[in-house]
Amino acid sequence: MADRIEFVKNYSDLSTNKGFQFEFYCDRCGSGYRTRFKPSITGTVTGVLDTAGSLLGGLFSSAADVSERVRSASWEKSHDDAFEDACNELKPDFIQCPRCSSWVCRQKCWNKKKGLCKECAPDLGVEMAAAQASKSVEEIWAHAAMAEEDKKLGLENWRENVRASCPECEAPLASNAKFCPECGAKLKAAQFCPSCGAKVNPGSKFCAECGEKF
Ligand SMILES: [Zn+2]
Ligand SMILES: [Zn+2]
Ligand SMILES: [Zn+2]
Ligand SMILES: [Zn+2]
Repeated sequence: MADRIEFVKNYSDLSTNKGFQFEFYCDRCGSGYRTRFKPSITGTVTGVLDTAGSLLGGLFSSAADVSERVRSASWEKSHDDAFEDACNELKPDFIQCPRCSSWVCRQKCWNKKKGLCKECAPDLGVEMAAAQASKSVEEIWAHAAMAEEDKKLGLENWRENVRASCPECEAPLASNAKFCPECGAKLKAAQFCPSCGAKVNPGSKFCAECGEKF
């Protein structure tokens, strides 16, 4: 059934006798998007028959079996149609990357500027922070081998931190920005504790030196 339609790799079929619903998952981050529940007309009719059958004991049970089989064919047909509709309904929330052919969610996994998925074209800020994180491990090892004075010098000159995401709203940052493009939070300007004057990392809630709350 899914083979006919070119779309995300994973989806869940949440359909029941009463109707049809599907959830599609982003190929990259796995976020799920659900279609609206679409009642099945054939399913409802059988529901009524099933109830009548059980109310009158075994008398109509064989009749219900027949309608069960009849329904199956028509249910299958409307199920297939519903699946196609579901794909069309949710396709606007996804986009196919021209490089890796993944279907990714536009919300989190699409790099609009580059026209590629974020797997193929990651956010610069995210990459820089990751590169810096692995670099800092190397530098910590390097520092460990240094003389005490050299260490201090090195730490003082330690370059400013690059953030991968906004400390306020957690939006991923596309570049080494000064302000969050989503919520406008200040990301970089050096801040100093009003109480002790120690340098404070942007976004921290307390002073690391004296514990002053900001
Ligand atoms: Zn995604
Ligand atoms: Zn891609
Ligand atoms: Zn923000
Ligand atoms: Zn302080």
